[in-house]
Amino acid sequence: MNLFDTLAQYDYEQLVLCQDATSGLRAIIAIHDTTLGPALGGCRMWTYATEEAAIVDALRLSRGMTYKAAAAGLNLGGGKTVVIGNPKTDKSELLFRSLGRYIEGLHGRYITAEDVGTSVADMDIIHQETRYVTGVSQAYGSSGNPSPMTALGVFRGIQAAVREVTGSDDLSGKTVAVQGLGSVGFDLCQRLHAVGAKLVVTDIATDNVQRAVAQFGATAVSTEEIVSVSCDVFAPCALGAVISDETVDRLRCQIVAGSANNQLAEGRHGDRLQELGILYAPDYVINSGGLINVADELEGYNPERAQKKVEGIYQIMRDIFAMAKERNIPTYQAADRLAEDRIAAMRQVRSTFLPVSRSLLHRA
Ligand code: NAD
Repeated sequence: MNLFDTLAQYDYEQLVLCQDATSGLRAIIAIHDTTLGPALGGCRMWTYATEEAAIVDALRLSRGMTYKAAAAGLNLGGGKTVVIGNPKTDKSELLFRSLGRYIEGLHGRYITAEDVGTSVADMDIIHQETRYVTGVSQAYGSSGNPSPMTALGVFRGIQAAVREVTGSDDLSGKTVAVQGLGSVGFDLCQRLHAVGAKLVVTDIATDNVQRAVAQFGATAVSTEEIVSVSCDVFAPCALGAVISDETVDRLRCQIVAGSANNQLAEGRHGDRLQELGILYAPDYVINSGGLINVADELEGYNPERAQKKVEGIYQIMRDIFAMAKERNIPTYQAADRLAEDRIAAMRQVRSTFLPVSRSLLHRA
């Protein structure tokens, strides 16, 4: 791997390798872009096959966070940590305290959070060494489980998409096919049911399906069928890459809008959705409620304020649809442009010289 060329390709700012023999820590902190503010992104623990695979993952994920935070209107940049190791067998207090000290050493350029393989308990240990961590336990001022806020954002995003297609936010009588009834999917069903939407659902966990049928009068279909259900909205809330060569031409919906990450197997599947006249709500924008919620911790968590910001996903989605129309580009590209435009504009604003205060000069 030609490291500096790799970093230059997408203009990464910094890559930090953290090694501590005593604790066994081998971690990579990638900071993609801090134009808008400190880089925030979760800490993933995974048994990577090679060190290169770990670096590539940290870089890819940190860049994704830059776009997600920028499009969500947050004053945050993009970063990510990956810890090389098995989350079931390799965790220790020492490991996360050691990582916490590395994060502290970045003086707030990077703020961590939970991700795949890490938990609130791990964040609490990191918190003993640094305040640059979110997703800690409630006793330390945490925002708690992000899923309800993610579901709220998806619900508002669906309303914006339905308005784009029909001219009205009204979801009563609309059919929504929900793939995956976990933390986000089930909460979303509850919200949709409350406003009179008809639900068609699937999950590999049959108890989740039974609950949705019992509580919301949902129609259950097999995991295979869900993609080709005739509906107004298809809401992927389980897996990534669900819009692929195998599925895209089987869709019978007007809108794709759900919480799953990386819904498009490749960008060209977003192009195909546009060709088919299916409106796509870009995944990293519609599912940013959890990030918006956790980011609120940085100002001292206030649930009402966080909820108001999450509701803003509605307007962001409308802006993306408008831009896509105006520039005649697919919506997934419009989301990227929105993020890039915001970062570029802020770079311009920051080009104005501000005198450094005396106190800061003294501290330096
Ligand atoms: P979860 O693990 O609680 O739920 C996922 C559900 O999908 C489970 O019930 C699982 O049984 C089901 N599932 C798995 N494979 C399936 C298949 N082939 N067909 C149908 N159902 C299947 O996860 P979650 O927290 O609800 O997140 C759902 C999606 O949203 C994930 O892609 C996640 O990355 C994304 N997301 C979640 C959040 C959040 O705040 N939780 C935030 C952003 C994005």
